Order: sequence, then structure tokens, then C-alpha cells
Amino acid sequence: MTNYQMFIGGEWVDSVSGETFSDINPANDEVYATVPKGDARDADRAMAAAYAACRDWAKTSAGERAKLLYKASSTLESRLEEFAEVLISEGGSMFGKAMFETTYTVDLLHTAGEDCRRILGETIPSDHDKLSMTIYQPLGVVVAISPWNFPLLLSINKVAYALAAGNTVVLKPSSETPVIGLKIAELFASVDLPPGVLNVVTGPGGVVGEALVQDDRAALVTFTGETVTGRRIAELAGTKLKKYTLEMGGKDPLIILADADIDYAVDAAAFGAFMHQGQICMSVERIIVEEPIAEEFAQKLAAKAETLTVADPHQPTTVIGPLINDQQVQTVHDQVQDAVAKGARLLTGGSFEGRFYKPTVLADVTTDMKIFREETFGPTAPILKVKDEKEALEVANDSTYGLSSGVITNDLQKALFLAENLESGMVHINDSSVHDEPYCPFGGCKESGLGREGGRHSMEEMSEIKWVTIQRGKRHYPF
Ligand code: NAP
Repeated sequence: MTNYQMFIGGEWVDSVSGETFSDINPANDEVYATVPKGDARDADRAMAAAYAACRDWAKTSAGERAKLLYKASSTLESRLEEFAEVLISEGGSMFGKAMFETTYTVDLLHTAGEDCRRILGETIPSDHDKLSMTIYQPLGVVVAISPWNFPLLLSINKVAYALAAGNTVVLKPSSETPVIGLKIAELFASVDLPPGVLNVVTGPGGVVGEALVQDDRAALVTFTGETVTGRRIAELAGTKLKKYTLEMGGKDPLIILADADIDYAVDAAAFGAFMHQGQICMSVERIIVEEPIAEEFAQKLAAKAETLTVADPHQPTTVIGPLINDQQVQTVHDQVQDAVAKGARLLTGGSFEGRFYKPTVLADVTTDMKIFREETFGPTAPILKVKDEKEALEVANDSTYGLSSGVITNDLQKALFLAENLESGMVHINDSSVHDEPYCPFGGCKESGLGREGGRHSMEEMSEIKWVTIQRGKRHYPF
């Protein structure tokens, strides 16, 4: 077990109160680390440090910022296994997911480096003999609040782009995975990021997070987490008239039409529903299948689920590790039991040992079940039968969420009809809903999100656009 400190103004410090909390390994309940339990005073210190550093950082050239991000990328690349180990031990990531997340983040840092020089203003035709143009400028201090499920990737997605756009940052990592947040601070300190440009404060979201969101020095709050938390952040930031972006929950559909290659559809569904124990915002949470192939698909998916190894995530053969905490186990089990009580057929799974929930396949799911409506965040595959693509669309759109979706079909007309009409921020044809690339517009509609992350979309969210004009000669005034 290691004792960690927070990172404020370029220094490693304890919380003002001196209090700490335990970071638990979800696989074995052991204390993995102790971490400072910050409060509003620590949030204030971090905001002061970020605010003091923001003018100088804003003046750095795009090239200097790019160089630093490239250095952070190559440093992370040389320490992949060390970072993966943290993701496994405090987050319950299986080895493959941890390695995917770390290598993806190397690419993300590099992409943010490239984007430093790609924030392009425009010239605009003027009817008033002016040179008229837009320029992008840094916002100031960005407050980044991140979740536990992909804590390295999702934190760095915010931090790297905030830095690329010339902002300073205060990061509040999840209390389930605080160490990875502190490792991010250490990574940037190791590449000589100036003091105060990145600060990491650990502690309860309701205390530290709320203090950061309401701080007058925060120019943007960028949040990823549950919809209920996002709504609270929107209320607080809205009252202060602050800019905010929200990446929130999902209940993503995977639509499988009758012409699909059933074995491919089974692989896509299993990956989408069970990867990281279904704890991905874009996880497949509703599988909507055309009637002629629904039963064969369900049986084959159940057979595949039974082959997946449920075990300690350190074991290389493990596919299903632990859920993040006991409350999450109860949420998943409650939804499965509710579905069975309302008539769903449990084909496999439906039970757990400790925090290890067996991959679960449910057929004959209907729209009145909790598992159809509420985000599950567990290894469950609820299957609904529909008669055609029109009914599939209706069922898919019958949700308050709208993050990502997948469609498996080779019928181009039907694929296009679904892509254009699905109420979701992202649609992946012939794939599951789980897909991301660092430079693409990631985000949702409805209660899944406000704003987009990725490449130039992040750069725009993290910048202020300013309209500048220069008058040629003298303007004629009416008086
Ligand atoms: P969460 O409970 O909402 O927590 C997210 C972050 O918000 C944590 O750092 C948390 O701190 C902090 N927080 C909690 N209450 C707060 C408050 N009142 N004010 C300010 N900050 C507060 O979410 P989670 O359980 O970590 O993550 C899982 C959720 O994230 C799922 O719903 C998933 O769908 C969503 N997610 C969305 C995306 C996306 O891109 N759309 C990606 C990944 C995950 P503490 O940990 O200290 O409470």
C-alpha cells in the first residue's frame, strides 16, 4: 500500500485537513492506497494555483505546447505497464482493457499535440470594407471532473485538450480511482509542465467537485460521469453562468437485422455488452433483433457468455473482472431480477460472487423492465425481438439517453435509414456501439450529453472564439 499526496502548484501536498481516505481494490477488498481527502480549502488552493499560472501558459506558442504533449505521450508509452497496473488494481480493469486504455491514451496525447497547431480561425466577407476574422483564445482555468471506468483515458482527454488550447487545469478524479489521477500529475511533472498548469485534487465529488464548479475562477467545467451528477453540475454552473460540457450515461442499442451474419453479430454483442464488465458509457445495453434470427442469436450469445472467464483481472485469461463496488452489484442484480419477475428468460448468468457478476443473457425483454430503461453498467445482454427495422428504430429511440448505437446489417438502405433516424450522438454500422477515436466527435444527445469531445471539437469547446475586424480607411458615420 502506498500513501499519496495531491498535486497543487507544482508541489505534492497533503489535504489542508490532513485527512485521507482508502482506495480499495475491488477484486479483493484490500486497501490499495491512501489518498488525501480534500475539501473546499484544497479546491481553493488548486484554483488559485491554476489561476496564477494561466496568463503565462496562455502566452506559450502552439509549438511549445505540442512539444510538451508529444513528450508526455512518449513518456507514457515507455511506462505502459506501470499505468496499466494501477488501472487493474484500483479500477478492476482486466489486463487487456488496461493495456488498450494506456495505449489509446498515448495516441490521444499525441493527437492533442497535433491539434495545438490546428485551431484555425477564418476570414469572413465583410459588407463594411473591413478585414473580418475569427481567432481562438484560451478560456483560462478549466475544471475537469472525471469518472472511474476509463479514468486514465477520460481524464487525459480533458487535460490534454485543455492544455493544448492554452488553458490551465484543475483535475478532480473519481474517488474510486484517485491514484490514476495523481499518476497523471506525475506524468506531466516529469515532462516539466510549469507549476500550476495542471493541479490534481482528490476528495469527495459533493465537496471538492462542487467547490471547483462554483469557483469564480473556473472558466469551463468539463464533466464525464452519471447523468444525475451532470444535472447537478449544470445547475451549479448555470447559476454562475459558466460554460460547461457534459458527457453522461447511456443505454445504447445494438440493432441486428435479419440479414446479419449471426456469428459476427454475437461477437459484436458480446464485446459491446461484456467488455470491462459492461461498465462503459457506450456499452451495448439493449440488443434489438429482428424476429427470424432472434432465438438463434440469443442461444449463441448465451453459449459465448458461458465461455468467458470470470476471475481476478490480473490473470491474463480473465475477460470479466469485478464490478467497481457493492452498490453497483446490487443495481445490476436488482435489474436482472426485475426483468425475470416481469417475464424475461434468463439464458445464462444472473448470479454473482462478491463483486464478480456472471455475464448474463436475458431473452424476451420488454420495454416495461428496468433493464430496458435504466443504465445498468454491468455485464448484461438484454434481448428484445422486433418485426422489422421500423419497429427496431422505435424501440431504440424509446429512451431518455442518446449516446451511441450499433447496427448490424449489410442492407445499405436500412443501415442509412437507421443511421439518420437513431436519436444518438454516434452510430456505428456493422459494429457494436463501443467505438472511439481521439480526433472524432464523441458525445451524445438527450440526457447523454451536451457538447462534443475529440480533436478540433475539444479544441473549440476549450477555447473562446473572438470576432475581430479591421476597418480599411475611415468608416462613414451618420452623425
Ligand atoms: P459519477 O458518480 O457521476 O462521478 C463522476 C465524477 O463526478 C467523479 O469524479 C465524482 O467524484 C464527481 N462528482 C460526484 N458528485 C459530484 C458533485 N455533486 N459535484 C461535482 N462532482 C461530483 O460517475 P461515475 O460513477 O464515476 O462514472 C460512471 C458514469 O459515467 C456512468 O453513468 C457512465 O455512463 C458515465 N460515463 C460517461 C461517459 C461519456 O463519455 N458519456 C464516459 C464514461 C462514463 P467522486 O468519485 O468523489 O464522487
